[in-house]
Order: sequence, then structure tokens, then C-alpha cells
Amino acid sequence: MSHAFPPAPIPSVPIVGRAERFPVHRIYCVGRNYEEHAKEMGFTGREPPFFFMKPADAVVAVEPGQTGELPYPSLTANLHHEIELVVAIGQGGKNIKAADALRHIYGYAVGLDMTRRDLQNDMKKQGRPWCIGKGFDASAPIGPITPAAQAGDVARAAIWLQVNGTDRQRSTVAQLIWNIAETIEHLSAAWELQPGDLIYTGTPEGVGAVVRGDLLEGGVDGLGTLRLRVV
Ligand code: MN
Repeated sequence: MSHAFPPAPIPSVPIVGRAERFPVHRIYCVGRNYEEHAKEMGFTGREPPFFFMKPADAVVAVEPGQTGELPYPSLTANLHHEIELVVAIGQGGKNIKAADALRHIYGYAVGLDMTRRDLQNDMKKQGRPWCIGKGFDASAPIGPITPAAQAGDVARAAIWLQVNGTDRQRSTVAQLIWNIAETIEHLSAAWELQPGDLIYTGTPEGVGAVVRGDLLEGGVDGLGTLRLRVV
């Protein structure tokens, strides 16, 4: 088979302790999955999990120990950070039960669900899709993937983000409304998961704007620190 032009390169993420990289298939994101963040966005009460997607090539993979560059996107004056635990799927499947979900996980990483909040809010008001607010180029920074066996107790780990050395977000993964296994159960009922899928599991409270020149440093205990400069 030949292509009419060279296919785009496969986006990939480094893996801690391995030379091979994790090839990205799809990026799924969970909306409003921490109660205090749901409240700050104007919502209360437990609702079924809901999902949106980003293009696979929206990843900005930051190499171990490096500071990545995050280009400030067009069309916005309100670029928000959302620090998130990212689940990397190693074994696909559909209708996966929560009790069976963990064996589908390759590993975990620290990610940022960058958001053009002004555009997202406009789309919400008009009942239109969120794509322009969420799925823009370079909207999915991510650090190296730690294989699950080396990741420690991710389900209870601290999650945090600092901008220019000052705390913006600080919580624990234990505060997730829908935990990792439940999220995989719901997601795999709607889509057949594939090896290479990334799931951004939602952000805790404290989201806010960044501007060019800001240094973002975020982490999940056991998964290292993700560091990016907005350029
Ligand atoms: Mn998010």
C-alpha cells in the first residue's frame, strides 16, 4: 500500500526506564471529576461521568528531567491549567467491568488538560461542542509514563500544580468522584478502548489562567514532576 503523501508521525510519550516509547492512539478526558472543581465550575451533585476528546497529536510529551515548551494558543485571552492524573491503556477492550479494569492499564503519567476557558464557556452557553476550547493544538502536555507496577498507590496520591512556584491546585487522587476503574468501565461502554489510549481523569479545584513566560510545575506523587514554560 502507498499513501498519497507521507502519513503524519505517530505521537508518542517516553516511558520511565525504557527505551521504547508509548504510541498514542486516542486521548479521552473526563469532565468535572472532582467535587470541589465541579463546584467552582458551578455544578453540584454526583452526575454520571462524561467525556470529551483531544486529537492524539495534541500531546506535548516532556522528556524526563526536561522543561517543555507550551505554545500560548490563538483566539484566547483565558488559557487555563488543569492538572490531571493520566491513565495509559495497554490492553484494549469494550464493556470492561470496574473489577477487571486495572489489568488494562499500562501505566500512569502527569498531564495538563489545557483549556481555552473563554471559548469553552462561549460554546457551553450556546450548547455547542467544546472542541475549540479543549481540543486545540498542544492542549495535552504530558510527562513520562510510569509503568503501573512501579507507580505506587496512585489512587491515593497527592496531585498538585504550581505556577511560578506558587500553589494553584493541591488535592489527592482519592477525591476523584469516579475512580480510575469506574471511569474505565463507563468509557469502555461507549468506545472500544485500544492500546495507546490515554485517559485524562479530571482536575481538582484551583484551575486558573496562565500567560506567556509562566512556569508550570505539576505532579502526582510517585509519577514525577511535569514542568513546562508557556511561550
Ligand atoms: Mn480536565
